[in-house]
Amino acid sequence: MILQVEVCGAIATNAYFYIDDETDAGFLIDPGAEAERLLKIISARNFTIEKILLTHGHFDHIGAAAEIQRELKIPVCMQKNGRAYAENPTWNLSSAFGAEMVLRDVTYLDDNSEIILAANENFRLKIIPVAGHTTDGAAYYSERDGVAFVGDSIFLGSYGRTDFYGGDEQTLFAELKNKILTLPDETVLLSGHTPPTTVGDEKNRPWFNI
Ligand SMILES: [Zn+2]
Repeated sequence: MILQVEVCGAIATNAYFYIDDETDAGFLIDPGAEAERLLKIISARNFTIEKILLTHGHFDHIGAAAEIQRELKIPVCMQKNGRAYAENPTWNLSSAFGAEMVLRDVTYLDDNSEIILAANENFRLKIIPVAGHTTDGAAYYSERDGVAFVGDSIFLGSYGRTDFYGGDEQTLFAELKNKILTLPDETVLLSGHTPPTTVGDEKNRPWFNI
């Protein structure tokens, strides 16, 4: 089950609960703000969240991670280049939006490794590195469910900005073409800021010119 929750800090971001229906255990992706509200959802629905997964280290995706981590005593995971953002309020853009954010207790994941749910080892996500919006971009992909949590690398009808720290448009396009738009056409792409889309819809956009 996937539950999308729009959380609102300085800007609105989609957080996602990716939950195994058999066990009600799962992962929380991009808790960007509103820790208390997300914690209430977790307890009201009896979810067991095993890990927080971050698609990249921008403030609007990480804002509630430290508080939820403290409360639930669970790991916060990022792609291995994430330290540059997690520990630097300039790079994660939080300093520009008023409240400086630093994440210290982060588990850095190996590229293309599987994140396996302890409660059900058949329930897993693979971390695919997708640089370009940031250097630490990650998509979390389930082949079984045909879904990828893509953060800000690609959106319904657009793609991520590349003018922030570590951004690079050529890199983003190459990464998307090689790693995301090569997934099966019916794969649902769940982004940080738009409604869902699919690989089939996005690969035909004129800017990708495939
Ligand atoms: Zn971002």
